[in-house]
Amino acid sequence: MKKKLWKKPKQIVMDIGKCIYCKNDMVNTESFVVFATKEKAHYQCMKKDDELKQKITQKIEKDINNLVGK
Ligand SMILES: [Zn+2]
Repeated sequence: MKKKLWKKPKQIVMDIGKCIYCKNDMVNTESFVVFATKEKAHYQCMKKDDELKQKITQKIEKDINNLVGK
């Protein structure tokens, strides 16, 4: 007869849903953020997205400045 091996987890890991950026399932042991819209995302994914948006904004500003000859 086989005995079922049950390892008790040190921390209860709960599935908290999908990250809106990378679409992967997240667990409560990861760093994550919850938006006002109740959407959830990895903290790292949000940070990356913020940096990307900033880079794009900076690039557009530069392009506009180039166009207007500043
Ligand atoms: Zn993510």
